[in-house]
Amino acid sequence: AAAPCRGDIVFNNVSFGYSPDKMILRDLSFTVPSGKTVAIVGGSGSGKSTIVRLLYRFYDPLKGGISIGGVPLNVLQLDDYRRNVGVVPQDCVLFNDNVRYNIQYGNTAATQEDIIRAAKLADIHEAIEAFPDGYDTLVGERGQMLSGGEKQRIALARAVLKDAPILLYDEATSSLDSLTEHNILEALNTVSAGKTSIFIAHRLSTIMDADEILVLANGSIAERGTHKQL
Ligand code: ATP
Ligand code: MG
Repeated sequence: AAAPCRGDIVFNNVSFGYSPDKMILRDLSFTVPSGKTVAIVGGSGSGKSTIVRLLYRFYDPLKGGISIGGVPLNVLQLDDYRRNVGVVPQDCVLFNDNVRYNIQYGNTAATQEDIIRAAKLADIHEAIEAFPDGYDTLVGERGQMLSGGEKQRIALARAVLKDAPILLYDEATSSLDSLTEHNILEALNTVSAGKTSIFIAHRLSTIMDADEILVLANGSIAERGTHKQL
């Protein structure tokens, strides 16, 4: 049975550290309303990617809890839950296989047409076509044949194809040229429509359209508001 992964995402007094003597997140509380987009900004090491890892359940909070639609994450069956989450990590590790496999991953029903549509939305289709073997091009160990930006857009295409109700996007700091950046922002706006989304952002442009922006400092929220308010 599909997990009931609709509704608001709620962080309720979440504390977490990779070791108990060094807390990274402290009493963190925020809500991402169902279907809305919340952006999280903050300095390097402030815990942004850690929030994404907790949401994808690589770790559990040490204190407090995370829930979706009122259901605590940790009571949901892990595979079921993860089927509801599209995640584009900051450091995407791809599988040592071809581009098609890396986009299709786990989505066995997807057709070649579906894969191309997702790649176009993620603004990576043209780059793939220019690879020596197109969609059959091998990406190498951990995707080392590709640039950071290409890897992230392939991960975005995978998330687009997955079409899950929850979307997590952890923006890589690696510099994108402004045309690529513009195209990715358009893609993100399209893809996140109607999804409950969290965007970790470094660039101001990424967060322009977010419904709310959280500024993370010392493991808790220092400021919050819309782009206009901040
Ligand atoms: P950036 O903007 O550079 O991506 P971030 O806000 O995403 O930074 P995190 O990756 O969440 O930061 O890391 C928060 C803190 O936790 C950092 O001090 C980091 O060194 C530490 N940390 C991250 N991952 C681990 C880990 N697996 N084990 C121990 N410490 C970790
Ligand atoms: Mg990070």
